Amino acid sequence: QPAIVWFRDDLRLADHPALHEAVASGRPLICLYVLDDKTPALHPAGAALRWWLHGALADLRAQLQSRGGTLLTLAGSAEDLIPKFARNMDAASVYWHHRLHERERAQDDRIRQALEQQGCEVRTHWGTVLLDPDLVSTKQGGFYKVCGSFWKALQTHAVPEPLGIPDMSSFQDVPESVLQDVRLNEAELCPQAPDWASGFRTTWEPGEAEGQEHLEDFLKDAVAEYPRGRDRVAEEGTSRLSPYLASGAVSPRQVWAALQKHGAHTDGPRIFLSELGWREFARYTLYHLPQLPFENLSPKFSGMHWRKNAADLKAWQRGQTGVPIVDAGMRQLWQTGWMHNRARMIVGSFLTKHLLIDWKEGEAWFRETLVDADFANNAMNWQWVAGTGIEATPFFRIFNPTRQAEKFDPDGDYIRQWVPELRRLSGKALFEPWAAKEADLRQAGVVLGRTYPRPIVDLKDGRDRALQAFRAL
Ligand code: FAD
Repeated sequence: QPAIVWFRDDLRLADHPALHEAVASGRPLICLYVLDDKTPALHPAGAALRWWLHGALADLRAQLQSRGGTLLTLAGSAEDLIPKFARNMDAASVYWHHRLHERERAQDDRIRQALEQQGCEVRTHWGTVLLDPDLVSTKQGGFYKVCGSFWKALQTHAVPEPLGIPDMSSFQDVPESVLQDVRLNEAELCPQAPDWASGFRTTWEPGEAEGQEHLEDFLKDAVAEYPRGRDRVAEEGTSRLSPYLASGAVSPRQVWAALQKHGAHTDGPRIFLSELGWREFARYTLYHLPQLPFENLSPKFSGMHWRKNAADLKAWQRGQTGVPIVDAGMRQLWQTGWMHNRARMIVGSFLTKHLLIDWKEGEAWFRETLVDADFANNAMNWQWVAGTGIEATPFFRIFNPTRQAEKFDPDGDYIRQWVPELRRLSGKALFEPWAAKEADLRQAGVVLGRTYPRPIVDLKDGRDRALQAFRAL
């Protein structure tokens, strides 16, 4: 009787406690992935994430094939497919890693019950977080609502050492009849016509070894400079590990252990680890506050009069707002499936404050377009930017996009890269073309309203409107 390992957002072989235990059972293995668009516990995977999945699944399959096995990919409702597949294969046990949201956990419970009823054992582990969230609680037994206190408390526990790749020697063949009608058509994960993913392909290579390489390169080249480099939007000052962490090609425990080895006490590694702490805190918050992706955590905002303006939203999505740093960020996202964290904060503030559009619109767009789309990180950060979260930047702190650009893209390289129609502008004119002298614009070949949009909102008016809406709450 085989053991089934159900891969989800943990697409790797190393540090995979579920796989480890399945291998240790001595039973022949079946490795399975299910793309569930029918009964997703939260949302179906967005387009950019699907592109990433295509590469990540191929990588995992290749790794398993080199060991004599394979990865089966199925499409359909996991609640139906997993028990049926296990029954057809007369499986002894199914192994997986816990998910965090209450809807995901309820779904996993239903699948567990169905499996157990048919005599199949279910074994589960924590594989996508540093620690079981129930281990980190306040003295009163509640959960932390502030990241700093949570992170301090977490570090009083021992984070388990990452596991290696288990020695897999025995795999179970699966007859074609069991896979009929349920095989995932992986080619459909990639865009057909138009092919919008060319920028993705030149930027990213999904996969476990690539993820490890990103981590090693970052430790070698950038971590010491991280405290300064992480805010420079034009530089490669951050690890770009996010899509590898989101798909599970790299585990947070591997990152933690690598940083400890590197020497976590100096500023660079310490601050970098605290970002991993934000990731962990987002998951912890999703676990304890399931409304995180759906509702303002601060109830005061339930009466907020967000604007519904399809034209402004579209201009923001397309990077056509007329505010260069905002457009640069949104175009980086559109073309590569990723955006620098500082730029994410700037475009998020612009959407929710200058345009006064609900953060949920931004969350949904990011979910569709990010290769690192991650329910917990995305929702927590949108609520943070909008000021609607539990530990959020106050609503009245409104980023001035020009000041942000001057500070974090001082030479304008980021804007020039992503908004090439402005590349011949320099100095302040690059950051605020609407305030530039006609002669400077002409010389740079910029015609506002024709080669580049006029701003869709006056920055001062937008700011005043946001503050007024906030005061009215
Ligand atoms: P590094 O600076 O190298 O950080 C290392 C890792 O720490 C990241 O890979 C990530 O896993 C974690 N991390 C870093 N910053 C944060 C943060 N603020 N919150 C939580 N974890 C963090 N991150 C996602 O992974 N998925 C998302 O869907 C996502 N949506 C976001 C939406 C908004 C509006 C904002 C402001 C931020 C969002 N982030 C999201 C967080 C952050 O922008 C990215 O994790 C980071 O830019 C990824 O680049 P990196 O791997 O080079 O980061």
